Amino acid sequence: MTESCEVAIVGAGPAGISAACILADQGVETVVLERGEFPGSKNISGGVLYGHDLAGIIPDFARQDCPIERNIVESRVWYASDEGGFSLAYRDAIFKEERRLNVFTVGRARFDRWFARQAEKKGALVVCGTLATDLLRNKAGRLGGVRTDRELGDLKARVILLADGINSPLAAKTGFRPDPAPEHVALAVKEIIELPEEIISERFNVSDEDGVSIEILGSVTRGMNGVGALYTNKKSLSLVIGGNLRDFAELKLKPYELIEEFKAHPMVASLIKDGVPREYMAHWLPEGGYEHVPRLFGDGYLIAGDSGMLFNALHREGSNMAMVSGKLAAETILQALKKDDFSEESLSIYQEKLKESFVLKDLKKYRRFPGFLRKHREIFTDLPLSLSMAARDMLTVDGVDKKTKQSRSWKMIKSKTPLLRLARLLFNAWRSVK
Ligand SMILES: Cc1cc2nc3c(=O)[nH]c(=O)nc-3n(C[C@H](O)[C@H](O)[C@H](O)COP(=O)(O)OP(=O)(O)OC[C@H]3O[C@@H](n4cnc5c(N)ncnc54)[C@H](O)[C@@H]3O)c2cc1C
Repeated sequence: MTESCEVAIVGAGPAGISAACILADQGVETVVLERGEFPGSKNISGGVLYGHDLAGIIPDFARQDCPIERNIVESRVWYASDEGGFSLAYRDAIFKEERRLNVFTVGRARFDRWFARQAEKKGALVVCGTLATDLLRNKAGRLGGVRTDRELGDLKARVILLADGINSPLAAKTGFRPDPAPEHVALAVKEIIELPEEIISERFNVSDEDGVSIEILGSVTRGMNGVGALYTNKKSLSLVIGGNLRDFAELKLKPYELIEEFKAHPMVASLIKDGVPREYMAHWLPEGGYEHVPRLFGDGYLIAGDSGMLFNALHREGSNMAMVSGKLAAETILQALKKDDFSEESLSIYQEKLKESFVLKDLKKYRRFPGFLRKHREIFTDLPLSLSMAARDMLTVDGVDKKTKQSRSWKMIKSKTPLLRLARLLFNAWRSVK
């Protein structure tokens, strides 16, 4: 391993590799330390990626053999009850042509490997199978490198970027970020279900290159503050479901129990029918929102991506926040290198750059959203059930007049969620996203 370099990056996820690409492009000696056997071996995500932000790092990514699964042309949102649910879908021809690859699916094991290879091509060194165990300080207390689990594995560096994900013992150990509280973290499980390519295209009514994303809210999370998702890959479906870590503990619920129930939901079961489960994994997600973003810079270091709690829980955007924060961190480092100044003050421009970008703007806009979900549990319990019962009643043609049906539906909804509570829910929902 190189014993010293200009920039040491911990973590070869989207944040770390984005930063490495920008720095290596400018000839900066950059080393990325990755604990996994290869980049992506420890990483999961639902699998949705955003072309605009990837193009900010690798402009011609589609021509560089980026392992794209399917181009998303239709987004669906379901509000599910136990036996059915509501569905809202938006499909647009513009996402097939002009805005192709606006959103697309990937498998992280293949994508992260490919992305790291792009950084290596530009001159970065990606060292896998290496756990960063601590940060090194000089006698004056300034950061000066990273300690690894390798024998003689200290790596000296002028500046360090922590891009080591949500479960970052380094950030906690060094006091840069407290361990996130269980209510600010979600535990998500994912299963990959293999199906023939033509069956997927037929079931989702798309061509073989195109795909669909489905976000699923309601009673599928057993009353936990959480969400499910289903994404189409070329020859498989990604099924994801997650909930707040504290809720999991309180319900004493095992992640595999949750995903098994999810797979049995009638709206999901018909889409995954005859599929063969191929992979199963679980991971944390940062969900504290804007109020729980730690300070992302200090003397000799910066924090990017999930490690900095940069995740938009409403839009399920994490990989793009990781890429953009990694890029902005790298641009900050380039400016600091020019000045030869890695002090807290010099690196503070990172915060300004983040504030000007969609990253902190979006998190700030939705700062009330995590609290809203915590306060209004009926979104995951009574509300989807009573709305479904009302829809079921309305859609059943049984000779009962519509006025009677309407008034008994209202009565039933109000018996579960009183009017005042409903009004408060609507008001708080509007406030949390306005
Ligand atoms: C189930 C699930 C579904 C998701 N779905 C989506 C989605 O569809 N779209 C989306 O945009 N986002 C999604 N996300 C979020 C997205 O995956 C993350 O926001 C994104 O991966 C963050 O990138 P990162 O580089 O900050 O961290 P990570 O991707 O977590 O990468 C961190 C890297 O650091 C390494 N590392 C950690 N500690 C050390 C150490 N001490 N030494 C060396 N290496 C270390 C890890 O092995 C890892 O490779 C999902 C997340 C989950 C869990």
